[in-house]
Amino acid sequence: MCIFCKIVNGEVPAYKVYEDEKTVAFLDIFPRAYAHTLVVPKKHFETIDEMDEEYLAALIKSVKNVAKLLKEKLNAEGYNIVSNNGRASGQEVMHVHIHILPRFENDNIKFEFPDVIEEYKEKLEEIHRKIVG
Ligand SMILES: [Zn+2]
Repeated sequence: MCIFCKIVNGEVPAYKVYEDEKTVAFLDIFPRAYAHTLVVPKKHFETIDEMDEEYLAALIKSVKNVAKLLKEKLNAEGYNIVSNNGRASGQEVMHVHIHILPRFENDNIKFEFPDVIEEYKEKLEEIHRKIVG
């Protein structure tokens, strides 16, 4: 059983901050931001594309509720939402999870989206064709 399933069923302790019927949220023990939180479905899915719609809807609603909670309780001024899916993306625990990184003005957190890749910009038409063609 994976580590997040163990947190869900209580075998492994966690700093849970939110829970509902289908999801649970807890503090990341390797925080990249103040109150860095993970939101996970209670049912094991590896990646978002494999999720059933019921859990998927519950997960995104939970993300909203947790973000609201972090704004209200910690006065977070913003937040980044990240989800790595698949090993190529950097996913380490193979149980769907969404990171919420609370943000504050001048928090000095370096959160960088990749630079624009000109080569891919030039290939947009070809890429579009591959996806929809
Ligand atoms: Zn799991």
